[in-house]
Amino acid sequence: MVIIKTREEIEILREGGKNLATVLYKVKEMVKPGVSTKDLDLYAEKLIRDLGDVPAFLNYRPEGAKIPFPASLCVSVNEEVVHGIPNKKRILQEGDIVSIDLGLKHKGLFTDMALTVPVGAVSAGAQKLMEVTEKALEIGISAAQAGGTVGDIGHAVESFVRAQKSDYGIVEVLSGHGVGRAIHEDPYIPNFGKAGKGEKLVAGMVVAIEPMLNNGTKNVTLDEDGYTFRTADGKKSAHFEHTILITEDGAEILTKS
Ligand code: MG
Repeated sequence: MVIIKTREEIEILREGGKNLATVLYKVKEMVKPGVSTKDLDLYAEKLIRDLGDVPAFLNYRPEGAKIPFPASLCVSVNEEVVHGIPNKKRILQEGDIVSIDLGLKHKGLFTDMALTVPVGAVSAGAQKLMEVTEKALEIGISAAQAGGTVGDIGHAVESFVRAQKSDYGIVEVLSGHGVGRAIHEDPYIPNFGKAGKGEKLVAGMVVAIEPMLNNGTKNVTLDEDGYTFRTADGKKSAHFEHTILITEDGAEILTKS
C-alpha cells in the first residue's frame, strides 16, 4: 500500500534527508586508494550517531535474508552492483569506482541515498558510466510528478540510457521504492517502463529513485553472502540514488545537504 506522508512527517524527512546527504558527502571525501571498505562504513556510522540518528541498514533483515545486514553502509566496488558488505581486508585501489549507499533513521523516519565515487584516477569508460548514471537519476527525478505514474519515471530513465552511444545494461531485478515509515515501502520504481503505466504518483508520496547501470550486460548474480549483487560479465556498475518528495509542481529532493 502506498503511504501519503503527513506535513509533520515530511518536515522530519527533510531534516533526515539533509543529515543523510551531509554524512554521505563526508564519506565520499574519505574515498581514496588505501582505504578499506570497512573504514568507510565505520566513519558513516560514527557520523550518523554524532547527529543523534540511527543507521537504517545495520541489522536490517530483508525478506528472505538468512542474516541481517552487518553494516551501516553498503559499499559496492567495480563489478559489484549494490549491497556490498564492508570488509577491512577490501582495500580501495586507484581506478576503482565505488558505490556508497546509506540509509538513515531520523526521529523514526527513513531516507535513502547513494553515490558512485571514483578512487583516484579512473578510466574514461568508468567516468562516463558514472556520469550517465547520475544524469539518469536526475532525468528520473524530473519525470516524477503528481498526476504522473511510476512508469513515467522508468520510461524517462530508460529512454535517456538507450539514447547513449554506448550500450549500458539497466539492472532490472532491482529497483527504487517508496520510503519513509520503513526503509522499503510500496511502490517499486523500476528503471525501465512505459509512460503512463503503473502506480499513480500523488503529492505527499516519498520515494527513492535509484538507477543502476552496467558497462555491459544488465544481468546480475547474487553472492553466497546473500547480499552482494554483481554484474554477470564482471564489467563495472554504477548507482546513484536520492529520496524525493512528490509535489504538485514536480519532485523535491530530500537528500540534499
Ligand atoms: Mg534504496
